[in-house]
Amino acid sequence: MRCPYCGSTNTQVKDSRPSEDHTTIRRRRVCADCGGRFTTFERVQLRELTVIKRSGRRIPFDRDKLMRSVQIALRKRPVEPERVERMVSGIVRRLENMGENDIRSETIGHLVMEALKGLDDVAYVRFASVYKNFREAKDFEALLGELAGTEGEDAEADEAAAAED
Ligand SMILES: [Zn+2]
Repeated sequence: MRCPYCGSTNTQVKDSRPSEDHTTIRRRRVCADCGGRFTTFERVQLRELTVIKRSGRRIPFDRDKLMRSVQIALRKRPVEPERVERMVSGIVRRLENMGENDIRSETIGHLVMEALKGLDDVAYVRFASVYKNFREAKDFEALLGELAGTEGEDAEADEAAAAED
């Protein structure tokens, strides 16, 4: 494994241990040339996935990138890292099980939204607003109404009452 600091390939594993649920192996590594320390993760990968962007561009699927976008949505939200880790692993497993090597970026966005909805409302709205690229306030309001559930129904009733006035 190449050192991320100096680029040397002269690195050694100092410590390996499985995650609590034994789905990953975490390795602490040290670079013999610059002394830099870093961590790598080993996971099961059932399938090589390629993401087809909206522009038609093809890029290799990157779990870390998916994790980063989920973490941005979850910033400062009270959700345990283990749950986030499980959620991302679940999404990746579902993508791998779709039976296709090519996955449209919309499909990933859709799965992330679905998963976040069950995990944290605020993160869901944050992710959805970026993913759906809202241009109009009413799109955003529609989403909030969807989240509010019964409250949304009350709001609709209020609106109807207001219209009657
Ligand atoms: Zn190094």
